[in-house]
Amino acid sequence: MNKKPNIKNLTDSQFFELIQSQKQPGYRAEQIRIALFKQKISDFDQISNLPKGFREFLSDNYVVNALKLNKHRQSQDGSIKFLFDLPDGNSIESVYMPWYDNDEEAIVRETLCISTMAGCSVNCAFCATGKLGFKRNLDVAEIIDQIIEVERFLNTKLTNIVMMGMGEPLLNYNNSIKSLEILTDPNYEMFSRKRITLSTSGIAPRIKQFARSPRPVKLAISLHATDNGTRDLIMPINKSFNLEILMDSIEDYYRITKIPIMYEYILFDGINDTNDDIKRLTKIARRVPSRINIIPFNDISFTNPQGFPATLRPANREKMNWFASELRSQSVPVIVRDTFGGDIEGACGQLALSDKLKILQKIV
Ligand code: SAH
Ligand code: SF4
Repeated sequence: MNKKPNIKNLTDSQFFELIQSQKQPGYRAEQIRIALFKQKISDFDQISNLPKGFREFLSDNYVVNALKLNKHRQSQDGSIKFLFDLPDGNSIESVYMPWYDNDEEAIVRETLCISTMAGCSVNCAFCATGKLGFKRNLDVAEIIDQIIEVERFLNTKLTNIVMMGMGEPLLNYNNSIKSLEILTDPNYEMFSRKRITLSTSGIAPRIKQFARSPRPVKLAISLHATDNGTRDLIMPINKSFNLEILMDSIEDYYRITKIPIMYEYILFDGINDTNDDIKRLTKIARRVPSRINIIPFNDISFTNPQGFPATLRPANREKMNWFASELRSQSVPVIVRDTFGGDIEGACGQLALSDKLKILQKIV
């Protein structure tokens, strides 16, 4: 196993120490970072504006790449699921989603859904990633390299990032936030803050902290229920941060950042699809400027769920349309989301390394 540290994980002060120890001028730190994050070099040899001896020192002591692309699978809708191996034997997934113009001729947006953990510790009843359990947090290099590797592989420049892959980003707070700082740093020309969304199951104290961080981004809240009883049942995190505590943190986030909130709401048959839910959701939506995404429940039967999770069923299309139009009639902005990559288990909540674990043999 490679024991050299990844240079992308160095903090400012570690960078400073490295530069000082090699008697290099201070501006070298930013020169190296520009090479890593703007030019996206894959080898220290490519940083041609560094003295040769210093480049050799860097290659002897650090690595540049954090991930190894194991395999990828393309869905009929154009999305591509990538399976990456980590140096310690864990694996993660990222999903590329192209968005076409109305005539389906040109790609207008290229979004990558990235992971922040191997597995997840939150264990929502409906989520395949949760069924894996928590393996470990990803470091900054592992979070950012998902983007760099996919851009390299597809020879493209991604336009949008969603932190909605495996894991709960606000429970890997420091590395998620540090990654966002790099991704939105104007010097590296990677992404504007408007093009990044972080999705959370609702870690209320961290939402407040994130609001006060240097570069907050769009926040998606996995709401999925409008009363504590139901939310406790499908999202155990609600027992730590219930709807009142969560809503207080969301109001705080909006007050500080002025960024509208996106609520994600998976519509389950007979669980959260009643008239009372519509009333409560309308109230929630009016508390701060927001939009509600109604999401179809993606099948996770390939993880062989037991007990209550095994009973969860998607609401049908008719129900979804009814639910959405009732909300719209209350002037609540709603979109009904289509899923991406359903045929390759790359859709929301299906990132469970099905290829690697050979849970399922469904081939596109
Ligand atoms: N941990 C974060 C981000 C990753 S999950 C969070 O929970 O928000 C990304 C999104 O996929 C969340 O909105 C989550 O609720 C949703 N999701 C999980 N399992 C799903 C499933 N089986 N079908 C549809 N959406 C699902
Ligand atoms: Fe974790 Fe999000 Fe899945 Fe819940 S929905 S288990 S928080 S990845």
